[in-house]
Amino acid sequence: MELVDTHAHLNFKESYRDLPEVLERAQKAGLSAIVVVGIDLKTSRRALELARSWPGFIHATVGVHPHEVRKLTPEDYRELQDLAAQAVAIGEIGLDFAKEYSPRDLQREHLERQLELARSLGLPVVLHVREAYGEALEILARYPSLSMVFHCFAGGIAEARQALDLGAYLSVTGIVTFPKAENLREVVRFVPLDRLLLETDCPFLTPVPFRGKRNEPAYVRYVCEKVAEIKGIPIEECAWQTTQNARRFFGI
Ligand SMILES: [Zn+2]
Repeated sequence: MELVDTHAHLNFKESYRDLPEVLERAQKAGLSAIVVVGIDLKTSRRALELARSWPGFIHATVGVHPHEVRKLTPEDYRELQDLAAQAVAIGEIGLDFAKEYSPRDLQREHLERQLELARSLGLPVVLHVREAYGEALEILARYPSLSMVFHCFAGGIAEARQALDLGAYLSVTGIVTFPKAENLREVVRFVPLDRLLLETDCPFLTPVPFRGKRNEPAYVRYVCEKVAEIKGIPIEECAWQTTQNARRFFGI
């Protein structure tokens, strides 16, 4: 059985001092690829560094998370452009009106600038959207040529339908295993299997049965197991289809 973790923060150095062991467990769990996602310049650089160290196994995205955009300078965009040339996607980028660590205007501005960067390079985008689906979908509709994934999708059926209409993928984390996540399970039931991606978002969102511990890519297996159960299909079929989706989306 082959799996891909499409969203991992192995670039958070403090969380993964034991990285070689973490990667060994991932390989034993059947992972054939891990996409390491940047949230700012520093973690984007680190993601690329990891991709160079484990070629073909680790792939990097570069981008600035809505929480971090208030720190961006014009020089940062020059560097981001250079880094993006070596990345498989731009992300994670988006709008987060739940925490609002950066002012909303800046979030909108930097989302659009990074969408334009993705479009100019022909790269797909990894989106982080919280309590801003209406506005995000409105902006994204202006970029019809972009391939996009809503990482850790947190909307309802209505938002899922709109995202699918834009041609987007929806990505599922370990939240799907949480007892209270019936809404998300409903969304997973609704979304066609060929538009779903699996991720851990590690070190966060550790699935049952390891909830409370640090998350790592090997645990994407538990996300797959739960999605398969919801869809009423064998875990192998879920793994196969979501792996095809990940390969197609990221071009890996
Ligand atoms: Zn993330």
